[in-house]
Amino acid sequence: MELTERQQKIIEIVKEKGPITGEKIAEQLNLSRATLRPDLAILTMAGFLDARPRVGYFYTGKTGMELLAEKIKRYKVKDFQSVPVVVKESASVYEAITTMFLGDVGTLFVVDENNFLSGVVSRKDLLRASIGNQDLNRVPIHIIMTRMPNITVCKPDDLLIDSAKLLIDKQIDGIPVVKETKDGLQVVGRITKTNITKAFVELLLDE
Ligand code: ADP
Repeated sequence: MELTERQQKIIEIVKEKGPITGEKIAEQLNLSRATLRPDLAILTMAGFLDARPRVGYFYTGKTGMELLAEKIKRYKVKDFQSVPVVVKESASVYEAITTMFLGDVGTLFVVDENNFLSGVVSRKDLLRASIGNQDLNRVPIHIIMTRMPNITVCKPDDLLIDSAKLLIDKQIDGIPVVKETKDGLQVVGRITKTNITKAFVELLLDE
């Protein structure tokens, strides 16, 4: 977050003289309390300053990096996940390719007859299966998919930063978001590199 010159001055005053009332800060800057109100609200919301009733403002001592790290750690998978696109194990490679185009995704999640997660199919899995293969209608997806238990998954309440780390560590483009039931994993969402990029932009542009 980019601070204005005035906001930086306020921080300096509070650092030196805090706890200090809004009235006193305004006096120091030769401004009215009303003029300062939005700046004080921004600095308090962003975590640079803290305010206590009848005491005034004081400096939290947190650096911009620390505040950014705190914010990232509040981002959960469920706040950024997209809708998953799933196919049945019995679907053909041809159907999977069509579903991938229609769903505008790069990774398909495969479910068994009870709708529990059983595999993952990526763009290159489908390309590989298509090379030199004339009849893609006859090749079922479960033959070419990466299957359980080798699927990397995440949960809605996981930290987004942990799923971002999984994408990097496992060198994959997408992770199914699942809910665990006693019979299997229900697919409730997906996290891809796009979701991580959106979180990054939101973090830095404060959208
Ligand atoms: P691409 O193969 O198009 O480059 P990925 O990098 O996502 O896409 O996939 C690489 C391989 O990892 C593929 O064989 C795919 O089936 C598998 N894969 C993709 N996502 C996962 C996942 N969440 N868990 C386990 N394996 C996965």
